[in-house]
Amino acid sequence: MILRLVPAALSLAFTMSVFAADPAYDVVLRGGKVVDGTGNPWFYGDVGVRADKIANIGHVPAGAGKREIDAKGLVVAPGFIDMHAHSDWLLIEDGDAQSKIRQGVTTEVLGEGGSAAPWKGKLVPHRIAVSNRTAMIVTLTDYFKTLEESRIAVNVVSYVGLNNIWQSVMGQSFARPTKDELEKMKALLREGMEQGAFGLSSQVMMPPGSLATTDELVALCGVVRELGGIYATHIRNEGLGVFDSVQEVIEIAERAKVTADILHLKIADEKYWGRMNEVVALIDQARARGVNVQANVYPYTRGNNNLASIIPPWAHEGGRARMLERLRDPDTRTKLKQDIRNGIAGWYNHYTAVGGDWSRMLVSDGNKYKGMTMDRVMADLSKDRNPPPDPLDAMFDLLIASEGSVGIVYAHHTEKDMTLALAQLWCSIGSDGSAYAIEGPLRRGNPHPRNFGTFPRVLGVYVREQKLLKLEDAVRKMTSLNAAKLGIFDRGLLRPGSFADITIFDAERVTDHSTYTDPFHYSEGIEYVIVNGKVVLDRGKHTGKRPGRALKRPVKH
Ligand SMILES: [Zn+2]
Repeated sequence: MILRLVPAALSLAFTMSVFAADPAYDVVLRGGKVVDGTGNPWFYGDVGVRADKIANIGHVPAGAGKREIDAKGLVVAPGFIDMHAHSDWLLIEDGDAQSKIRQGVTTEVLGEGGSAAPWKGKLVPHRIAVSNRTAMIVTLTDYFKTLEESRIAVNVVSYVGLNNIWQSVMGQSFARPTKDELEKMKALLREGMEQGAFGLSSQVMMPPGSLATTDELVALCGVVRELGGIYATHIRNEGLGVFDSVQEVIEIAERAKVTADILHLKIADEKYWGRMNEVVALIDQARARGVNVQANVYPYTRGNNNLASIIPPWAHEGGRARMLERLRDPDTRTKLKQDIRNGIAGWYNHYTAVGGDWSRMLVSDGNKYKGMTMDRVMADLSKDRNPPPDPLDAMFDLLIASEGSVGIVYAHHTEKDMTLALAQLWCSIGSDGSAYAIEGPLRRGNPHPRNFGTFPRVLGVYVREQKLLKLEDAVRKMTSLNAAKLGIFDRGLLRPGSFADITIFDAERVTDHSTYTDPFHYSEGIEYVIVNGKVVLDRGKHTGKRPGRALKRPVKH
């Protein structure tokens, strides 16, 4: 039946284009500098889009497009793939994905410690508001369905987060998983990947992810290998344990025979600043002996984490309510302070990483201290108190008042280390950020500027101003490199037959305008963004179109 219909449909299309003089393409991008995502040098060419695919690149006859976009003087590139993103729930609040679309992002890769699902076993289903109704998310299928029903401007890829499968089986307990429990986690991982996830992601710095041993991660990655996915990880310790932690990722990739991608590679402790060359050497040596370890970075020197990450891991057992009880207990406070100030072997401590300097911590949440550095917060918390409180006591009090969570931007790594990582062949771009907006409900808190500026910043600062990267290589790091890591071969390149995810920008003008203290500014110079053949950003204006899809890992046979 289908076989008989196809030639008929083809001949009809042929007839219409030749004899009825219908335009052959829905959109033609005319005369731009094509940077195709391979890393090859730019060339002049037209790009013809038909339905959701790229149909032609090179010379497209005049008048062949229903819509013709003059791309002269602009760069025509594949849509950017954000290799590390956190928009899981924000996309359901507002599918326009403003701060990402305006960076040229057409696909967001979601999942770190946690992912949007699963919520099974000892985890209760995740209840979320979707316009006028409530949705219950149990599986990744539920999440993808909810996303597509509420409609999104960008495409989405998800991993299965280690925390979800760990806590679905173990709950809030810090007990070692039995063999049987580990098998249950593997089954949940398999289920998530069969529902379309591209692999396993983890954050093994803090519980529950940090409870997983290297052997357990190798065992879980066995499922990843079998189903052809990748392992993406926030390493155990980005500070004084950075070399051991990178070694651990290499070991996992080597033993499980999987591709590993280190999320937001950095050296986040002032004592080890300037030693990124040693991290690069570890990865290069592993690659030289056939272990596929890669990494991504965001082009900033401050990270975003929680004030609660300064609380030692042991105090998190039992969950947030138990942690708050410990913070209220005077004897436990004494022990907490000792561990925070002296450190615990192997534990990455944001407090010592910034030299205990409160001025290097900036409140990113929407509480009353929003946008203030913690030294000013401390001054406020200490006023009228004589003698002034121990700053750690003040911090415990703040955490108690904030129900255990305060978002903080930590100034903990350096430009030199970041740019050295950025320049490596295997290092791609991921924002570690979410799709916010400068107005409406998603103008929220004092978010890290990476949410608004990551991709334009790479093009403006590190390509145009500093000439650290060639334009073509920067585009490769935002497009085909990320697609190749994931095993997506029909996006990330401008090629006939690929999906029409396209970003058109002015290389002379592209600039990020979001800063740490004044974050709510979109970037400039991204002119058009096309997602699955539909124009979402049109001369710098969001059209409200939401052609994004949940991309599922291709099933391999
Ligand atoms: Zn992270």
